[in-house]
Amino acid sequence: MIMFKLPDLPYEYDSLAPYISADIQHLHHTRHHATYVKNLNDALTSYPELQNKSIEEILTSLSTLPEEIKTVVRNNGGGHYNHSQFWQMMHPKGGGDPTGSLKNALEDQFGDIKTFKEDFSKSALKIFGSGWQWLVLENGKLTLTTTPNQDSPLTEGKIPLLGLDVWEHAYYLQYYNKRPDYIDAWWNIVHWEDVAKRLSDSHITK
Ligand code: MN
Repeated sequence: MIMFKLPDLPYEYDSLAPYISADIQHLHHTRHHATYVKNLNDALTSYPELQNKSIEEILTSLSTLPEEIKTVVRNNGGGHYNHSQFWQMMHPKGGGDPTGSLKNALEDQFGDIKTFKEDFSKSALKIFGSGWQWLVLENGKLTLTTTPNQDSPLTEGKIPLLGLDVWEHAYYLQYYNKRPDYIDAWWNIVHWEDVAKRLSDSHITK
């Protein structure tokens, strides 16, 4: 049986061009994300009690998993979850600046939106090796954080609001080694409405 499924992208493969090419989107979704889903399902094959759990439940209780699948689930469950969020956090009509309560919350924490974007970008640039840059809600506060590999902020009790994949597979085909150019371009497709919804939903569930 199949437990987890590769979600469709909420737009076409070429929708985020020229900022992220159709080739990258296609490869990233059908190869990388699909492989995380397959490996996660394979790992859970012998554990029917885990197959009915949501990915969020699994990632927030990694320490309780059987030792022999813990690492595989951490890497591939995290990869599945992180990418599922990442696709939603971008939109062809994204970019610009946030508005409303998200804007206010970012200004309260970072001073202004320009500074927030600069701090986020600087931190994303500094990640050594493969990982993710995040804006998270941590103890009710907006915070910048990074995770190595496919670790998810969820596992650390943080709610992801906005995430940027800085694995080379996310940009190398188009930007080669120029991660700064990828980061600059990515701001043009940030789906602020999705980020705002995550923030308001997290307040409701708190
Ligand atoms: Mn990726």
